[in-house]
Formats: sequence, structure tokens, C-alpha cells
Amino acid sequence: VSAPIFTADELAQVKAYVNPLYARLACNIAFDFLLSFLLLRFGVRPLYALCERAAGRISAGSGRVRRVPVVRVVLRALERLWGGEGWGAALLFALLVYALVEVINLPITYYFGFVHEHRFGLSNQTAWAFWRDTLKAFVMVATALGLLAFGLFGLVRRTRKWWWLLGIAASAAMLVSSALDPYRSRLYYDQTPLAEGALRGRLTALLDRAHVEFRDIVVEKTSQDSNRVQAYFAGQGPTRTIVLNDALLRAMSDDEVVAVVAHEAGHVQEPRWPNRLASVAALFGFLFVIDRLFRRGAERRWFGVSSPADIRLLPLVSFTFFVLRLALMPASSALSRERERAADRYAIALTQDRATFARMLTKAAHIDRMDPDPPRWVVLLASSHPPIAERIAAAEAK
Ligand SMILES: [Zn+2]
Repeated sequence: VSAPIFTADELAQVKAYVNPLYARLACNIAFDFLLSFLLLRFGVRPLYALCERAAGRISAGSGRVRRVPVVRVVLRALERLWGGEGWGAALLFALLVYALVEVINLPITYYFGFVHEHRFGLSNQTAWAFWRDTLKAFVMVATALGLLAFGLFGLVRRTRKWWWLLGIAASAAMLVSSALDPYRSRLYYDQTPLAEGALRGRLTALLDRAHVEFRDIVVEKTSQDSNRVQAYFAGQGPTRTIVLNDALLRAMSDDEVVAVVAHEAGHVQEPRWPNRLASVAALFGFLFVIDRLFRRGAERRWFGVSSPADIRLLPLVSFTFFVLRLALMPASSALSRERERAADRYAIALTQDRATFARMLTKAAHIDRMDPDPPRWVVLLASSHPPIAERIAAAEAK
């Protein structure tokens, strides 16, 4: 029998950290249902009326700006893309609903994203940096959502085959976006190439043995915000970047960093097509359901709409997405745990060093305050990784 991962005191600390997170998971699900229900039942009509009035007022009050040639061209293009009037109110509605939900959730976001992380020594972020990143994420998501709502409803207004067209476009975008991954993380953190030296040499040799093509090994400077250790591969083939955070390099020995990268190399070996096909199937399934809901909504005049292409049906899209994602979560997290087990086995086979792999996991468990035995429902519902105690035991088992 090997030594326990934590002493009794350490374990009490870990439990004090994770138990509120479990409570949050359960409450979040219940709260999201309630919020969606209230929004659909009582919010859609008055919020849309508000947006229509605001759009009318903005349009009336901006006569001079609208005559500026560049603005005129952009406005005309938007109107043509949308296929008529009313895009302003639609866009405002999409943004307002998103902003409202975010603001209602803000106290919880702040508590768990900042207060709780600080209390347990996991975050080094200043309050200013926290709010800056929160705002940055909000602006990015709001922009993406605005474009998506505009594109989605603009397309529904035009053709009954919208969901086929959108499914094909979104599937293509999914494939391209994973190649663009390396550029996304740089929006938040500085990355610099890992210095030439023994570690870089060993990692290059390891990746070579694993037949993993890559562009560079970089160090991501996250320690000003967080003490968590992290490594991931971003991108694919020629764009693949091996990303190690500075906290990892500080906390782990070279042997342990090699073990971490060996695990990530294990993920590269996964067959990618079953995953992609499952994502594409889920996407088409989702769009099909949305199409049926839109038509039924128009027939029955839900929220006062008379056409399937009415933006007032947007909150129904979010709600459907939420329900389907929740329904698929146990299966997708089970598949993820299976992939993590396989990556652990692969890493141990590649490095031939069980002891270092187990030590690396133990260190990570301490730094990131991982629960060695989370409640069964948490694992089954939402855990992307097997419990850390299980992974360590598997690494140590001959
Ligand atoms: Zn993994």
C-alpha cells in the first residue's frame, strides 16, 4: 500500500476548497433552469419591446451620422444581409438578453472566480486584472453572439434549408478553428519559446519518439494570475504548439515535466474522426431541433412571433442548447475520462517511468487542490478526468 496523497490536515483543506464548488455545480444547474424559465415566461416580450423602442430612437437620433458615406455603406450592407428592416432591434435584443444573464450571474462569477480562489491560495490575480479579463471575455462573447444571432436569423429569414447550410458551415468552421487554437490563448497571456537547454532537448526527443509534429514549445506566463500548473497542446500538425505554464516549470522537476508532456502526447494519438463525427452529428441534431421549434413557435405565435425567423425565439435556442448539453454531459465526460486514462497509459509506456509519473500527479494534486475522492455524482455528471487517487493508483500499479 502506497502513502496517502494528503495528510489529514491537507485533506480537510482540499475538501473545504472543493465542497463549495460541488454545491455551485448543483445550484448552477437548478438556477439556470429557473432563470431560463423566468426569461421565457415573463422576459421576452417586454425586453423585445424595449429594444424596438431603443432601436427606433437610435435610428431617429442619428440622422447626421447615418449620412456619413462609410456608415451609410455599412448600414445598407447590414440591411441587405438581414433582408430588410428590424436588424437593429434584433441585435439589441440578442445583446441585452446575454448581458442580463451575465449580470445576474456576476456575483457568483466574482465569488468563485476571485474570492474563493484567493482564499485557498490558488489565485494571484489583482481585482483589477480579474475585472479586466471578465470584461474582455464579455466583449468577445457578446461580439461572437451578435454575429451568430445576426447570421442565424438572417439565414432563417431567407431559406427553409437554413439548418443544413448552417450545419455545413459550422462543421467546416469547427475543423478550421482547432488549427487556430494556438492564437486564441495569446489573447490572455504572454508566451515565449522555452529556452534552449537540457529540458527542451529532452522534450524534443520525447515528441520525436511519439511522432508528434510541432511548431514550437512555449512557456505561458500565467503565474501573475494563478498558481495552477498547466500544460496543453494547441493547434494541429504544423500549427501545433506545446504550451507549458511557468507555474509548472517552477513546481516540477525536468523528469516530471517530461511526464506531463508525455501525457499530452498521448492525446495526440487519439483517433480524431469519431470525435469529429460525433460533434458534427450533435450539431446537426441541435439545428434540426431548433428548426422544428422555430416552426412550431411561429405556428402557435409564441412570444407574439409570426415567423420562424423572429429574434424573440433566440432565448429558446439558448435554453435548448443548455438542456441538450446537460443531457449529453454524462456521456461526454465519461468519454473524456476514458481518453485521460488512455493518455496516462500511453505516457507511462513512452517514458517507462511509473514512479515519476505518479510523483508528478501527486504534486499536481497538491498544487491544484484536487479532491482524491470526489462524490460519485460529480464524477459521473461533470468530471473530465478520473479522480486523481485513481490515476495515481493506476500509475503505481505494476
Ligand atoms: Zn489529459
